[in-house]
Amino acid sequence: MIDQFGRNIHYLRLSVTERCNLRCTYCRADEGICPKAEEFSAEQFAQIVKAFAILGVDKVRLTGGEPLLRRDILEIITRVKNTTGIADLSMTTNAHRLVGQAATLKKAGLDRVNISLDSLNAEVFRQMTGGNLAQVLAGIDEAIAAGLTPVKINVVLVRNQNNAEIDDFIALTRTKPVDVRFIELMPLGELGREDANRLSNAEIISARPYLQPLAPRYPGQPSVDYAIAGHLGRVGFISPYSKKFCADCNRIRVMSDGKVRSCLGFDREVSLLEPLHQGEAALLETLKAAMFNKPLAHEFEQSHSHAKNMRRIGG
Ligand code: SAM
Repeated sequence: MIDQFGRNIHYLRLSVTERCNLRCTYCRADEGICPKAEEFSAEQFAQIVKAFAILGVDKVRLTGGEPLLRRDILEIITRVKNTTGIADLSMTTNAHRLVGQAATLKKAGLDRVNISLDSLNAEVFRQMTGGNLAQVLAGIDEAIAAGLTPVKINVVLVRNQNNAEIDDFIALTRTKPVDVRFIELMPLGELGREDANRLSNAEIISARPYLQPLAPRYPGQPSVDYAIAGHLGRVGFISPYSKKFCADCNRIRVMSDGKVRSCLGFDREVSLLEPLHQGEAALLETLKAAMFNKPLAHEFEQSHSHAKNMRRIGG
């Protein structure tokens, strides 16, 4: 569906839980956590996705919180993937529960995964996220083997935490067929509010003249991609703060408690509970209004008070 500024909104990011098994320093937010009891069911998500598909959504990403904490994640995947009109189903995950499950997720209908990995040093990784590096690396290999490809690795760069590892991450693409994407720290958690913690993607790129510009995988993608001679994978840079890509934004978001949100940068949400009870026509009207009225841009630079809770929104 085309919004008030002429953008084609066809990509739904569905946050299926706010619960998470990690505590990333740049993401953590203690407020506004949706309790498990208030999470929408697989059936409710399926009805919402069906309505979005009628309005032209063809691409869905499951996120959170950690989506693999949902016991019914296979049911969610199967229902979403079987919705008429949904061509692409992906997931953003910390991969801690991927080992032993990747092939089953693929079989249920998941097309591909983005895996968050902020350090290749086990101790730094533990400090930044509370996570276990070996588990994530095993999860990446299993995702590749299961065909959840292209596997994309999301690295949020934070000064004085992982910025010394940029070349180690680039080196990972030499032997692994993965897209490593450096994501500029957004002003969402406490760390992100301090400009001093943010690195400039432009500076990282200009210091590495061997990066060869690549055409995007698809039009309007947020990352700017590069190839490196002799490497199996590619490197991408996502710069939501320094280089807004709102003019090309095609996204709409739904939270785990069934609230629709038009923009990552604005806390305004509309509940879908009532329209769901009223039936499909009411649901379509509510979604249409949310999509049409999507804000022009996130305005991160004007106020750091918007969008505090990434764990709720799911990126
Ligand atoms: N639990 C899953 C995971 O870890 O990938 C999905 C949810 S997580 C909130 C989604 C993405 O948001 C992750 O790649 C994470 O690194 C990113 N993220 C969280 N806070 C961020 C921030 N302040 N700036 C940039 N990216 C952030």
